[in-house]
Amino acid sequence: MSASRPVDVSKLRVAEGDDADLDGRDPRATPGYDGDKESSVPVLAELNARLEELQELLYADGRHRVLVVLQALDAGGKDGTIKHVFDGVNPSGVRAPAFKKPSSEELAHDYLWRIHPHVPGDGELVIFNRSHYEDVLVVRVLELVEEKRWKKRYGHIRDFEQMLVDEGTTIVKIFLHISPEEQAERLQDRLDRPEKNWKFETGDLEMRARWWDFMEAFEDAITKTSTDDAPWFVIPADRKWFRNLAISQILIETLEGLDLRHPAAEDGLDQIVIEDIPKR
Ligand code: AMP
Ligand code: MG
Repeated sequence: MSASRPVDVSKLRVAEGDDADLDGRDPRATPGYDGDKESSVPVLAELNARLEELQELLYADGRHRVLVVLQALDAGGKDGTIKHVFDGVNPSGVRAPAFKKPSSEELAHDYLWRIHPHVPGDGELVIFNRSHYEDVLVVRVLELVEEKRWKKRYGHIRDFEQMLVDEGTTIVKIFLHISPEEQAERLQDRLDRPEKNWKFETGDLEMRARWWDFMEAFEDAITKTSTDDAPWFVIPADRKWFRNLAISQILIETLEGLDLRHPAAEDGLDQIVIEDIPKR
């Protein structure tokens, strides 16, 4: 652990060609971090400040586009991640579109049709709250399309993402890996706390019952689409504080890898005098 790199996130990355091996990963673990929840508070504050600085620079620089794909099961922590990791970033350069059940118009098109308009433009950081991966996850588990159709989608997705990368987008994909016990606690919390009731949907329980089918679908999706250019990170996410630290660190390293700089200033700024406006 070092001040500039408090979490070693290298073990969380799924290398191209490697198996995602979800069974072999403990959702309660805190790999690559020596401290505990209490010690993580000032560390997260520092990471937040650094991320804020880098995002501002990304926006000012205006030459790079960054896409973060966030996937998880219900109550996996997607909303909490967006709230805590991006605390303090400048809303001007950041968007977080959420992909819900497709509308009838969306269903009347190919599954990437609704996704593409939301990818980042120059200087933007975009976080997808769910994404095109739903089309090989929930769609596969609930058999919303035939197998021979969803099976081809891994290839489409690899090609689509590679195209975005080749055209100047940096992509990082994040799976929030929670345990069924942790999900039960969080769903119960949504039932118990009136201010959280709105987040509870009875449909979540049907999805929960298919837990291992979802794990298989995630395992396959991550294994088949983690590439050097668009890697997946599997984040042990039962402990929210570790999740926040790890994701912040990943984003910082991603932005630091971009050679961001302020655009060159116009010549002669030191000669400029701002004149007073004469009184009316
Ligand atoms: P939430 O993120 O909790 O608001 O829930 C959104 C719901 O939309 C989840 O149950 C997703 O699985 C579902 N969803 C998102 N994308 C798709 C898709 N392409 N096909 C079917 N269901 C989807
Ligand atoms: Mg939900």
